[in-house]
Parts: sequence; structure tokens; C-alpha cells
Amino acid sequence: MSTAVLREMSFDVDRIRADFPILAQKVYGRDLVFLDSAASAQKPKVVIDAMVSTMESRYANVHRGLHWMSERCSDDFEAARDKVAHFLNADRNEIVFVRNATEGINLVAQTFGRKTLGPGSAVVVSEMEHHANLVPWQMLRDQQGPELRVVKITDAGEIDFTDLERQFSDGKVKLLAVTHMSNVLGTYTPVERLAEFAHAHGAKILIDGAQAVVHRAVDVKAIDADFYVFSGHKLYGPTGIGVLYGRRELLDQMPPFMGGGEMIRSVSYAGSTWAEPPYRFEAGTPAIIEAIGLGAAIDYVSAIGFEAISAHERLLTDHAMATLAALKGVQAIGHAQDRGGVVSFTVEGIHSHDVATLLDKQGIAVRAGFHCAEPLVRRLGLESTTRASFGVYTTTSEIDALATGLRRVQQVFG
Ligand code: PLP
Repeated sequence: MSTAVLREMSFDVDRIRADFPILAQKVYGRDLVFLDSAASAQKPKVVIDAMVSTMESRYANVHRGLHWMSERCSDDFEAARDKVAHFLNADRNEIVFVRNATEGINLVAQTFGRKTLGPGSAVVVSEMEHHANLVPWQMLRDQQGPELRVVKITDAGEIDFTDLERQFSDGKVKLLAVTHMSNVLGTYTPVERLAEFAHAHGAKILIDGAQAVVHRAVDVKAIDADFYVFSGHKLYGPTGIGVLYGRRELLDQMPPFMGGGEMIRSVSYAGSTWAEPPYRFEAGTPAIIEAIGLGAAIDYVSAIGFEAISAHERLLTDHAMATLAALKGVQAIGHAQDRGGVVSFTVEGIHSHDVATLLDKQGIAVRAGFHCAEPLVRRLGLESTTRASFGVYTTTSEIDALATGLRRVQQVFG
């Protein structure tokens, strides 16, 4: 038995797989090999049950009702906020529920950004950002005039600190908006160092944790983050719920994002005043069931523990890199020292869409294309890549199945 398989057994991946009903699914009559968790992860039964049981037993709108149902549901909804706060080591008033990481970044751009970033100031992003952490800043630039600068990455796929120094050298940068883990390269960025760097230069830092939060423990206080965003659906929770962490002093000073119910203190025809954070940023009926589902997902990953999750994913990533390296004509992309469970690759002479389509016919789900990071893929000199990404339920034998699948794809293309 290989060391990889032995180490995997100590994680008890079979027990974890049993928690995910969908993994028993057959696709085209074959066992499903789901290697697309970075796009959206599958859901354990405890998440599904938490959502169904809320709808079956105590569903009502939150914060407004004076009846038993609304009070129970509000308690559960707010308990989910407490779970998120604990998960990130934040205060509950620093946790804003949003739809997803994308909305969290747009919220910061349109509130903090509109208030503090204008002509003469600059926002820095990196070359490895998802569109979610690029386009909102382009929109802000076009609305308000701050410069948008892009810090280079090295050929290994890491932040180029020499270029970062250069970008900050004129003192105009007021915000560094950077990913915690690239969804294409798998690179973890050194967020503590980046936060220290930004603060030393008088800038704030926003961290896009959409990928990282799934794979390692995040402590926003230890990082010294000003803003941190993630999506519930990549963390084994439902879609429609995400989180913006904002440092309390910053949230206090920020104007609302959207107007409506829930976000006000008082309303008259002459004007309105705003509720305190986080409610100031939560206009309208929130995603109640989804927040409760996210709370259940956080309980689920916390019970497994991030030490075990990170170790399992490191094992998978090492196994995937070694397996792909042994395949002729297959080239893995990104070789950062510190990387998580995402592996992108190209197959010589075969477009990634063909690779993904032919793998699909073998029951293997991967992602192909730009992965919502078109400038990065072009920076790498590519038109597209195929991406395999891993979750707590991924096994080394699924990676072996990917290798077999890739060989078949190569045979088809002769
Ligand atoms: N940031 C990164 C690094 C991502 O990988 C993704 C999604 O793939 C996002 C942001 C956007 O997440 P969502 O579509 O859930 O808002």
C-alpha cells in the first residue's frame, strides 16, 4: 500500500463520503468522480437537514415578528452569525451576511470605496484575482476615479513583493484587494505579511477568502484583515449566502449599500437614518434558511478540524502533482511553495473544453476555461486550462481515475 493511501486511511475519507448523499450518484452509469469543488462544493446531510428542519418546524421572517415562530427563526439565524464570528475569530457585529463573496467585495467597493477612494488615490489588486475581485474595482475606478493598479506575480505563481513595493512607492494606494488563495494556481498568498505591508503604507486590506476559507483555519484578527469575504457554497453550505467580515471601526463609518427594510433606524419622507452594523448592510429579508445552512456547514468542518482537512488536501495535491507530472503531454500550472487543493493543467494539443467533455463522459467532473480569471490565464500565456479541485471527500483513487481518464482523452485525440 502506498504512503499516500496509508495517510489517507487515517483521515477516514470513507466515513466523510458517507455524509454526502450525492456522492453515491452514478453518472452515465459510472461512479461519480467530482473534482469541481472549487466552483461549488457538495453538501453534507447535516446541512441539508438543518435547512429542511427549519422549513418544516419553525420558519418565519426574522427580526420582525412578535410570535414564537419568528423568535425561534431569528434565534437560529443570529446563532449562525455567532458561528461565523467564532469561525473567523471576529465579533458578531463585524459579520455581514451577503449573497456571496462577489457581493461582499461589491459592497466594500460601493460603500468604503465610494467614501474613501477618488482621484489621486489607488487600489491595488494582483494578477491572480478572480473577476469578483477585479471588476468591482474597475467599476469604482470608472465611477470615482481612483487608479487601479495590478501587482505582478512571479512565474511560480506567487505575489512579486518587489513589484508590490513599486506599486505602493508613491503613497497613493489606499486599498490592497487580494486573494487568499488563487482558484487557478492554488497559491496561498501570505496574507499576514500583505496586511502588515498595506498597513505600513497607510492602506487597508481586503482579502478574498472564497477559496482559502475552505481549506485552512482563518483568523481575521491574527491576519489583521480589514475586510475578509467568502461564499457559503464553497464551504459545503448552500448558495445564496456569503460573508463579509469588516473591522468594526470601518463598518461604523461606512454608508449603506442598499436601502430598504432592516437597514434603517428611522424613516420619514424627509430622510432616513441607518441601523448599526451589521444590519445597516443587510437590506430586505435575508437568506434565512441559507444562513442556518451555513452555520451547519461551519459546525461540520469544525468537527473534522482544519488541521486534518489541510493535511488531507495537501496529500491530495501532492498526489495530483506527482500523478500529472508522470503523464506525457500534461503540464500542471502554478508551482507556489504554499498551495491548496486546486490543480490546473493543460493537455498538449487538446482544448480544455474537449478534455472536460471527454472526462465527463467517464463520470469525471472538472472545470475548463478561464475559471473567471481571464487576465490571469492570459498572463500565463494560455487560452484556457482544465482544473481539478478537491474537497474533504476527495480520494487519491479519484485522482488516479483522473489520470486514467486523461490517458483515454489522449487516445481519442490519437
Ligand atoms: N474569489 C475566488 C478566488 C473564487 O474562486 C470565486 C469563485 O469561484 C469567487 C471569488 C466568487 O465567488 P462567488 O461566485 O461565490 O461570489
